[in-house]
Amino acid sequence: MKMNLELTKDAVDFINDEKLHNLINNTKENPVKIRDIFQKSRSKQALSVEETAELLAIKSPEMLEELYQTARDLKKSIYGNRIVLFAPLYIGNYCINNCQYCGFRSSLSRAVRRTLTDQELVAEVAQLEKEGHKRLILVYGEHPKYTPEYIAQTVKTCYNVKVGNGEIRRVNINAAPMTIEGFRTVKEAGIGTFQVFQETYHKETYKKFHPAPGVKSDYMWRLNAMDRAFEGGHDDVGIGALFGLYDWRFEVLGLVEHSHHLQDRYGVGPHTISFPRVKPAYGLDLHLPYQVTDDQFKQLVAILRLAVPYTGLIMTARESAEVRDAVIEFGVSQIDAGTRLEIGGYQEERGKNQELDREQFEVGDRRELDQVIEWLLTKGFIPSFCTSCYRVGRTGEHFMEYAIPGFIGRFCTPNAMLTLAEYLEDYSSAETKKAGYELIERELSYIKDEKKREDVASKLSLIKNGKRDLLY
Ligand code: SAM
Ligand code: SF4
Repeated sequence: MKMNLELTKDAVDFINDEKLHNLINNTKENPVKIRDIFQKSRSKQALSVEETAELLAIKSPEMLEELYQTARDLKKSIYGNRIVLFAPLYIGNYCINNCQYCGFRSSLSRAVRRTLTDQELVAEVAQLEKEGHKRLILVYGEHPKYTPEYIAQTVKTCYNVKVGNGEIRRVNINAAPMTIEGFRTVKEAGIGTFQVFQETYHKETYKKFHPAPGVKSDYMWRLNAMDRAFEGGHDDVGIGALFGLYDWRFEVLGLVEHSHHLQDRYGVGPHTISFPRVKPAYGLDLHLPYQVTDDQFKQLVAILRLAVPYTGLIMTARESAEVRDAVIEFGVSQIDAGTRLEIGGYQEERGKNQELDREQFEVGDRRELDQVIEWLLTKGFIPSFCTSCYRVGRTGEHFMEYAIPGFIGRFCTPNAMLTLAEYLEDYSSAETKKAGYELIERELSYIKDEKKREDVASKLSLIKNGKRDLLY
């Protein structure tokens, strides 16, 4: 693919491998320092890479327990007990890159290649709406077919599908890095977050897993992607690392460096961080000496929660239901549910087994949306379909302004309750409906401000009477 991989004039490589390795190798568990960091975290301040390295050095069960408690408390005080739900929708798996871990890689001639037609896309979105979804992330391989204009078109198509009370209110994107112009084109289509994962921040490992040719072999083109996104008008970006390619501690420090870089340069950190672990994929026989254990995974999520308190943390259905159950309380704010990764999978595959030759990797949690909601309710979380901030313009710097003084709780918890009520009215099973309204009643009683409580209660009765899309 011919593409001008021109970096922005002020592109910098903000990952200093030597510095990060030194921090990992020379930081030993120091309970006094670590407790000071916990204290700092409890006042909702972001951590430096050096402080993050102190947390990565924790090994003793006692300090680990304190880390988990701090993460749990911080999550509650910043995000309340809501979990935002979304569905990934794979648009096409043609790809010119040869990422060694991916079921879409170009060298896999046996993989089934497909791009949804307009009609198929409409059918997939309609199916997701019928299940109750309001937020999507569209996923694309990297290919000349998937131009910014094409991506913008697919976004618009999703917004136009309306089935019954269903509608998609926020479309996020996970696609290849673009030029500034490309990012601008996609932004104008009205997307929420643009996600690009660096995969690994470690240059040597990056080279090994992303062989040339293929645009993705250029480390700096990818590292600079979010800078170009900001230059192209985005203020809501998602970063991530694919855990298991290199030392998990290096990747955590890389993510923190990346967040600081964006915060320092654009006044806004990433809106979300994703931390997928490498999963089995079609035709994959990888030797992965850096695979991340469940315990390390839990620790890294808790550390990220402390390091970047105002950044949403996304745990995907790559993880099993058991792992999601064990880790969710340590800082996760968003999960996908009812996930199918086969292209066209929502229409065609419900209830069937996975077909690895049609999907990017194996899904760990294949529960339906209603089952995931019921699970969240039994754990005391409020499942939320809220898209309010993005729709009323509370993004980027504005989002940070709202977030930092703790206003999020005032908007987010009521919005979570309202969008959950919509789900319970329109889509849920009887058991979920019962559990959902019990939780809503309980949450209502926690709202201290009487006026606010009455206002939320009146919006809830409007929803019961058929009104939709009420938001704060
Ligand atoms: N093609 C675009 C790209 O690579 O940025 C976007 C879509 S790619 C399908 C989305 C993400 O899936 C990648 O960034 C990578 O982190 C993740 N991924 C790829 N293979 C995976 C695997 N075997 N297990 C888990 N995640 C994987
Ligand atoms: Fe293509 Fe993305 Fe898969 Fe790499 S990770 S092969 S770029 S779809």
